[in-house]
Amino acid sequence: MTTHPDSKDRVVSGRRRRVLIVGGVAGGASCAARLRRLDEAAEIVVFDRGPYVAFANCGLPYYVGDVIADEQKLLVASPELFRERFNIAVHTDTDVIALDAAARTITVRDGHTNESRVERYDVLVLSPGAAPIRPPIAGVDLPGVFAVRNIPDSRRIRAWIDERHAKSAVVVGGGFIGLEMVENLQHRGLSVTVLEKLPQVMPPLDPEMAIPLMEHLQGKGVQLRLGDGLSRIETSQNGQLAVIAESGATMNADLVILALGVKPETSLARMAGLAIGARGGIVVDAEMRTSDPHIWAVGDVVEVPDVLLGQITVLPLAGPANREGRVAAESIAGRVTHFRGIQATAVVGVLGLTVASTGASEKGLRRAGVTRFDKVYLHPGHHAGYFPGARAIHIKLLFSVPDGRILGAQAVGFEGVEKRIDVIATAIQFRGTVHDLAEVELCYAPQFGAAKDPVNIAGMLAQNVLNGDMRLADWSELESTTDVVVDVREPDEYARGYIPGAINLPLSQMRERYRELPEDRGILIYCGVGQRAYFASRFLSQHGYRARTLSGGYATYQTIAAVARQVPPAPQG
Ligand code: FAD
Repeated sequence: MTTHPDSKDRVVSGRRRRVLIVGGVAGGASCAARLRRLDEAAEIVVFDRGPYVAFANCGLPYYVGDVIADEQKLLVASPELFRERFNIAVHTDTDVIALDAAARTITVRDGHTNESRVERYDVLVLSPGAAPIRPPIAGVDLPGVFAVRNIPDSRRIRAWIDERHAKSAVVVGGGFIGLEMVENLQHRGLSVTVLEKLPQVMPPLDPEMAIPLMEHLQGKGVQLRLGDGLSRIETSQNGQLAVIAESGATMNADLVILALGVKPETSLARMAGLAIGARGGIVVDAEMRTSDPHIWAVGDVVEVPDVLLGQITVLPLAGPANREGRVAAESIAGRVTHFRGIQATAVVGVLGLTVASTGASEKGLRRAGVTRFDKVYLHPGHHAGYFPGARAIHIKLLFSVPDGRILGAQAVGFEGVEKRIDVIATAIQFRGTVHDLAEVELCYAPQFGAAKDPVNIAGMLAQNVLNGDMRLADWSELESTTDVVVDVREPDEYARGYIPGAINLPLSQMRERYRELPEDRGILIYCGVGQRAYFASRFLSQHGYRARTLSGGYATYQTIAAVARQVPPAPQG
């Protein structure tokens, strides 16, 4: 951290520096509070067009679901607290409607009086967030069609459910806000259908990692209509809403939630001629300064570098918004602190299941043209198997070849999921490798973890791949492989289900019977989750066979096969 040459002057022409902040929630509020801790002299004024500042957007779905019953709990800080504790003026219900960068002024409209006034600034911070996408199609403005962005939105949804005794909902969009709404609407007793254009829910996940989640949703009674987009919404004859999909399918419901993602609110930035990037966000430098030296921008409205892929992206998450707000405050106060970039660490809880990810996905790597990477799948228990209650976590780890740098991880399970992803996320921050994961020393007592934690096992598996001890085959190769597929589980396990075409040669009989296997063909081995297959492949390799292990074993195969049976493709026409 160094001191910025331009920002040392805390007094401008003999008066206090005037710092105006547009948007008083995640990025704006954290910037304001941090700046006050660094600069007691500045005049800091926050404007928000909504009735609240510093509210918990992330809690909104749970307010709809009545898990958070008291609306006041969503208010993290009030304008009074900002005034009394920080000497920061907060104007709610005040829309910033114009920005003149040359004159260094903004125009604000007071929502109570409807009067406008011009406010001068020395420094301006834009943290207006991102608006829910409302597609330009018929019916999105009908009563009963909602997006969830703020407390009044949530209040309206609650009232609609209560007053109409709503029994059914269609959630359009299966991303994390959509799925949180699914959980909470179901909690209110509604039956829920998800309409999603992609063939999977949770788009940041690789498709095979979304499978246990889709299976779980269906098991909990959620209807999934995948691979089908929204065409229009109409009022149906019985007073319900009719959601018509691109395929022509019609879903009747008492309310519709649009959760199609968000787009940066850049109208003020465009008005001022600030640079806007290819992803539609405001361009900022590492100190969060825009193309205008007097204007900073933070949060959902900005474009940021992805630390893994080196690409510029947008990432609407609360953690980055808060950290960026702090970096901007430091910069404004004359300290030079750099925002490192994002790695897209995220978690969502859906009807008891936890889904978390950090870093790049496999599809993201492929899109970015990265080819020198490998992956391992594993399904360890969330704590020691001998302690009651262990439940599997499905983990996928991506790493670069040959150096083993961690590129990303995804995990799905019930307990201990986000703990593992957080550890891997931290390792990514330190540019860690799979060798670091194999070595990392984590908490262990039987009810919390294992002497070899799932994170260690992921690192060790990847090490085995990198040093050639384990040659992996991917489940996607199964259909076309010419290898002999060998199931090394015990006969009773094999009898309960196996990969079509696989022969059963249990690991326990391998030493006596391995000569039954043809030496002139590759051998593709699997077991339950991969451990016994690995032992068998080491044995066979040392006897001259070309042996490979099916990544993730029968558990990975089974989830894929199960959902292929259960999720019918969207009907065409
Ligand atoms: P915001 O927090 O959206 O604040 C922007 C504020 O600016 C708004 O209050 C808006 O009214 C105001 N504003 C905009 N334009 C103007 C203007 N012209 N004049 C005056 N005021 C203006 N992230 C997570 O990491 N984890 C989660 O679990 C999570 N859950 C979420 C659930 C929901 C329902 C939503 C909507 C978001 C969730 N997020 C979550 C995302 C997270 O809330 C955002 O990434 C974060 O709040 C962005 O901060 P921000 O300061 O950029 O914008």
